Formats: sequence, structure tokens, C-alpha cells
Amino acid sequence: MAALLPGTATLGVLGGGQLGRMFVHAAQALGYRCVVLDPDAVSPAGAVAEKHVQADYLDPVGLAQLARDCDAITTEFENVPAVALETLANMRVVAPAAAAVAVCQDRAVEKAHFEAAGVPCAPHAVITNEIELAAVDPSLLPGILKTSRLGYDGKGQVRVATAAELAVAWEGLKRVACVLEQLLPLKAELSVIVARGADGRTVHFPVQQNLHRGGILAVTEVPAPDVPPEVEKLAIAAARQVAEALGYVGVLCVEFFWLDDGRLVVNEMAPRPHNSGHWTMNGSDVSQFELQVRALAGLPLPQPRQHSAAVMLNLLGDLWFTDEGGPTPPAWDRVLALPGTHLHLYGKAEARHGRKMGHLNITAATPEAAHAVALDAARLLG
Ligand code: ADP
Ligand code: MG
Repeated sequence: MAALLPGTATLGVLGGGQLGRMFVHAAQALGYRCVVLDPDAVSPAGAVAEKHVQADYLDPVGLAQLARDCDAITTEFENVPAVALETLANMRVVAPAAAAVAVCQDRAVEKAHFEAAGVPCAPHAVITNEIELAAVDPSLLPGILKTSRLGYDGKGQVRVATAAELAVAWEGLKRVACVLEQLLPLKAELSVIVARGADGRTVHFPVQQNLHRGGILAVTEVPAPDVPPEVEKLAIAAARQVAEALGYVGVLCVEFFWLDDGRLVVNEMAPRPHNSGHWTMNGSDVSQFELQVRALAGLPLPQPRQHSAAVMLNLLGDLWFTDEGGPTPPAWDRVLALPGTHLHLYGKAEARHGRKMGHLNITAATPEAAHAVALDAARLLG
């Protein structure tokens, strides 16, 4: 396919959330027009795109409209129905492909893909019926029972210590298809983002060290403070292998557990830019969103260069609430007085507990300096 040159084409995105919004910003900076398809009347991406098609992901009229309006189409979340991507792919360039997104939609299929790609993942068992439930190897306990589909930010997960607890938990999850994973001793959580073009050329960002609170990403640090070069090399090679084995086109994030005994196992992947890659908007000469645009448009993918040490703080709606009540916005004027702070708010009208409202990137000449400013910012945020 010839590249869709900047200034001459329209790019579409399925989904109107913050990832779609940042994709649109990156695409518009390059001179592309953007159309967002999202069922909600108001959405972070719909508010900034040139056009918003308000339709359900399975509405054939909405999908046909998106295809008419756009030269190429991507998605900002993995739970878009695969048939929507397939329908669009009959009419337009679509990246990533429906088949790759479908792998990411199902933990059991995803884990099988990791194993087929030769990348180790957590010891696990698939539970879809009572026979499989009864046959679970006791060595997997204590473990985490996760729904195979539709889980995110720790939702659809239950920690279980015994076979009896496992049975109760599966009942509680309405007996849907699940994966039981052995609870692993984590030294740290890491992620690597790669971008792969239709020509197979693949580039990557450095390994990212991620801290989660309550199952939601809270902080990302790059360079990863605790990760030695040989582990970084392993993680990057594994992420590239996962993308390669999928014949993937677009931006892919692979999440890892780095274990107490030094082993690296893959946790899960996302067929899109990822929260842990938001630092690239300010700490790298090309962001994950620009790479998503470039991969979709068939433009060259340059190897990114990190020019600053970076810390990303996720901003959840909880920060808008204090002991006195709320919601009231945090003291951004004081936070932005700190050196190297870059605020990204997603334009969500209402702050709610647990809701991702934005992120704060902190860049500095050294990791120590970035870390120190991040501590100051966290203190101001309360
Ligand atoms: P989600 O799709 O909600 O992000 P994850 O599988 O990534 O689900 O789990 C969320 C978090 O729960 C992880 O980032 C990690 O902190 C913890 N976790 C998940 N699986 C395991 C495991 N097998 N061992 C230890 N911690 C885990
Ligand atoms: Mg995760």
C-alpha cells in the first residue's frame, strides 16, 4: 500500500476514550483529518475529532459511514467486537487486524499465543466447566481467577487460596470462561511498547517500570530504575517476538512480571497505545500515538529516542475529592510550577473515584531529578 500522505487523508478510530483523543491529537498535528466512532453523545476523542459518528460498534450504518469518511481505521480499545473490524477491513485499511485484536480479547487465547511465540507466561489453567474446575492442579494455588474476557484495571479478578475458594469465586463470576493464574512473587511490573509496520519493520520504546495500585496503573518510570540491561534486552526481544508471531501492524504493548527469582514472564498485551507509554508524549522524540498514526498511514517508523528521563503519574478522579468533599480540581497552578511538568487532561466533564482523568508527565535530565519532582508533585496532589 502506498502511504497516506499527511495533509491528504482522513484517519478513523473506533472508540472515543482518552487513547482515541491522544491518537486524534497526534494525527491532527501531522495534518490528518480524524473521525471517531463512539456510541456516546459526548466523549474525550469525539470532542476533538473533525467528525464524530455516534453509533454502536455493531451498527452497519455507522460502520459504513466511518468507512466512507476515512482512508484507514484503527481502534483505541481491544474490546471492540472483532466483526466490526472485519466489516471495516472489507472496505478500508484497518490496523491492527481483527484477528490480532481477537487474540488480545481473550486471556486464554492470548496465553496460548504467548506460548506458541516461545515467550513464557504465568502457570495457569483454563476453566470453562465443572470438570476443568475439579481438575485444577493444586500447585496453581494460591492464585488469581480472572475472567477470560472483558477484564481491565483489575476488574473481573478474584484472589483465591484454596480449591473451595476457587469454586466459590467461579460461581461469583457467574461461571463464565476464566483463567486461573498462579499468584507470582513480583519484584516489579514492566512493559514494552513496540510499533510494527506493514513491511514488518519493528521499533520499540525502552522498558517501562510500572507501579499499580488497586489493579490500576499509578506510576510509570523510564528508564526503569531497578531493571538491569540484560532483563531489558530480554523484555524487548520478547515483545518483538510476540508482535512478529501475530504478523502485527500498529502499536502493541506487552506487559511483564519480573519475578523475585529473576525470571521474566509475560502477563498480557494490548493492541494499541498503553497507559504505561504516556511518558513518550514528553520524554521521547516520537510518541506512541505518533507511531500509531504512522503505522496506520503506512509512513516510516523511526526508532524512538528517549531524550529525557521520565515519570508518569496517573491522575484518577480520587484526586478531585478531599476530606472536605469535592469534586474540586487539584492545585494545577502549583503543580505546574515544578520544573519539567507536563499536564494532560482528557476533557472528562465529571470526576469520579477510580476514573482516569489525565496524567502528569515529569521530564528531567536524570532519573533522580525526575523522581524528586514526581515526589513533590505527588505531595501537592495530596
Ligand atoms: P488487567 O487486565 O485488569 O490489567 P492484569 O492481569 O494485568 O489485569 O492484572 C492486574 C494486576 O494484578 C497486575 O498488574 C498485577 O499487579 C496483579 N496480578 C495479576 N496477575 C498476577 C499474578 N499471576 N501474580 C501476581 N500478581 C498478579
Ligand atoms: Mg494489566
